[in-house]
Amino acid sequence: MLTSYNGWPASKDPAEIGIKSYPIPGTMIKLRCAEAVAPLLIGFAAEFHALIEPIDDGGLDDWGYCFRMVRGSTDRLSCHASGTAIDLNATKHPLGAVGTFAPEKVPMIRALANKWGCKWGGTFSRADEMHFEIRVNPTKAAKMILRLQKGQNDKRAEQVGK
Ligand SMILES: [Zn+2]
Repeated sequence: MLTSYNGWPASKDPAEIGIKSYPIPGTMIKLRCAEAVAPLLIGFAAEFHALIEPIDDGGLDDWGYCFRMVRGSTDRLSCHASGTAIDLNATKHPLGAVGTFAPEKVPMIRALANKWGCKWGGTFSRADEMHFEIRVNPTKAAKMILRLQKGQNDKRAEQVGK
């Protein structure tokens, strides 16, 4: 089985690795990503939309699954090839450009990425500020998802109790 460079299974056939289309809450945007990490990537995208900047302004420049190499590479499969990466507001944050986010937003971007098990492309040696990818392995991802879902259920139970 092929893997993208973060170690997740990658395939030309989206069905083989459980790629599905997921709506981002609060937006009209849908992103294709791997089922096993969808709660992390979609949860991240929803908070990015609410707290950093709107995703659904402007064009359709938000992407998920795509079977391809890292741009400029011939042998490194992009995390998009495993459905474990997303690009948000690509037009505003093009590959290679540095400082496309206001500096005061950067700590929040890092904190959100960390919370959802992601790495931000803004920290790469070739800046890719639109890009967020899963940095945890399948076991850790499953644990994080359980914990996040438990947190949401507890919150719901609290609200029902009020
Ligand atoms: Zn990307």
